[in-house]
Amino acid sequence: MSIQTLDQTQQQQQQLHSLSLIAAHSHITGLGLDPVTLQPKESSQGMVGQLKARRAMGVVYKMIKMGKIAGRCVLLAGPPSSGKTALARGLAQNLSSNDDDDKEQTGSSGSNTVPFTAIAGSEIFSLELSKTEALTQAFRKSIGIKIKEETELISGEVVEIQIDRSITGGQKQGKLTIKTTDMETIYELGNKMIDGLTKEKVVAGDVITIDKASGKITKLGRSFARSRDYDAMGADTKFVACPEGELQKRDTVVHTVSLHDIDVINSRTQGVLALFTGDTGEISSEVRDQINAKVAEWKEEGKAEIVPGVLFIDEVHMLDIECFSFINRALEDEFSPIVIMATNRGISQTRGTSYKSPHGLPLDLLDRSIIVTTTIYKEDEINTILKIRAQEEEVEINDAALALLTQIGSETSLRYASNLISVSNQIALKRKSNNNIIEVHDIKRAYLLFLDSKRSVEFVTQNESQYIDDNGKVEISSQK
Ligand code: ATP
Repeated sequence: MSIQTLDQTQQQQQQLHSLSLIAAHSHITGLGLDPVTLQPKESSQGMVGQLKARRAMGVVYKMIKMGKIAGRCVLLAGPPSSGKTALARGLAQNLSSNDDDDKEQTGSSGSNTVPFTAIAGSEIFSLELSKTEALTQAFRKSIGIKIKEETELISGEVVEIQIDRSITGGQKQGKLTIKTTDMETIYELGNKMIDGLTKEKVVAGDVITIDKASGKITKLGRSFARSRDYDAMGADTKFVACPEGELQKRDTVVHTVSLHDIDVINSRTQGVLALFTGDTGEISSEVRDQINAKVAEWKEEGKAEIVPGVLFIDEVHMLDIECFSFINRALEDEFSPIVIMATNRGISQTRGTSYKSPHGLPLDLLDRSIIVTTTIYKEDEINTILKIRAQEEEVEINDAALALLTQIGSETSLRYASNLISVSNQIALKRKSNNNIIEVHDIKRAYLLFLDSKRSVEFVTQNESQYIDDNGKVEISSQK
């Protein structure tokens, strides 16, 4: 399979991954920053409030774009539903945004995307892969390798170079056609204005440059093909060179694949098919060392560029001390992405140890992290977020119902209030409300039907005797 197809595979995988988060964060389309100053707007791109954290993420964004933050880690710490995952999604969206002015044009679609891998801490624990293998794969999925390919369009003896010119609407237009013994119509400039040369002046063996934008053709002579200047010319000016019967289009196409993709293709007998099945298994360190050496060689020769991406580890407190020590070491590797971790834990036990630490993270990892804190939302921010969520779910809610939902959000959690939107909508639809608009009693009904975490704890506490306890015993009050 060609690298081009690999690009598509990778894109499909990324799309599939983003599906899992579409419901909760589908309204987030970026960090909502001013494109010039990178300062957060109060409400933009689906992001509301949390200004300090968004400003900090704006700095992280800039550093990533400048390639200055590889091998670092950012810890997003804050209470539940305070937007940590939303911030990570927003950053990912900004990094892959098409209108980014840093974006360069390349030959294959999606090539500029900074790789973004999102995992939950608990995903690391599986029966098929060891913890360190799963983490290694996540790290290597987050490193993009931009492979530059010099395309030799055609070969064969050049028999004719022809420029067909016509005058349309007072403009000189034309088509450049190059014929060789192997193929016909090798290079087409299309119906752009062609200027500078005529049919008689160009012969086989000449080197010509074509400026695609203006259609300007310049003849540089046969010896130019062997000169240093020819090699030094940039890819943005398209060349057609035909030294001694060999015709080349000096054009650079860029493909981006992840380091993990290269690992998989080189370690499985079914090669690229393993990417489709997801059956990557453990990959030996020998294979990885060889690949690292090869990629370093490509980089040295100017054939490849390493793009450090972002690895987002949600619920990072679920990792244990071995994983943390692995991350500490992996961050020092030359192929390290930016690691963004999120946690809602305060002082808690570091898994695999008997000691407690802030966020359940060992102090050495905490020490190398840039910590961004999120805070709980003010009532007006909750109101705006819930309004955006209602629009996103294409449901209508009247002002009184939104006010009640906002109050519920402040007293319970933003996530609980947000979940009540679709439930209330179902209730409104069922009772055939006026134009299916959610009203106060729909919210009240939904609130009574579904418990938030606080009422759930109260309920369990009151009815503790009816539940099975940790020892497998159930104590029904009537049996007492
Ligand atoms: P947890 O610690 O429980 O994992 P979290 O801090 O990661 O929570 P999110 O999942 O990001 O919280 O937020 C909960 C919901 O609120 C999501 O739907 C999210 O998109 C939305 N949300 C959170 N913060 C904002 C915000 N600032 N602007 C818009 N939507 C937000």
